[in-house]
Parts: sequence; structure tokens; C-alpha cells
Amino acid sequence: MTTSAQLVPLLTATSGVAFLMMLAGVQKNALEWRRRKRSCPSCGHRIHGRTCGCT
Ligand SMILES: [Zn+2]
Repeated sequence: MTTSAQLVPLLTATSGVAFLMMLAGVQKNALEWRRRKRSCPSCGHRIHGRTCGCT
């Protein structure tokens, strides 16, 4: 019985998929965060500097 020989590729694939999913989630979160920061939530105008200035 070579259980470890069957487990190694399975673990590698599982960790690879988990790593890819984590990367995708981080990129999606960064995109949403950047988009939310770009536009003002109160007036809807684009924020060029740090803050909009409409408040
Ligand atoms: Zn504004």
C-alpha cells in the first residue's frame, strides 16, 4: 500500500486550488476597495485626492 504516494498529488492540488482562490479573493477585495475609494459615496464624484471635499 502506498498511501503517501497517492496523498502527495492530492494535497498538492488541494493547496494549489486554495492558493489560487485566495489570490482571486484578495484581488477582488483590492479592486472593490479601490473602486470604493475612487468615488465619493455622498456626491458620487470621483475623488482625485485623499478626500472629496464636498462634506
Ligand atoms: Zn463628494
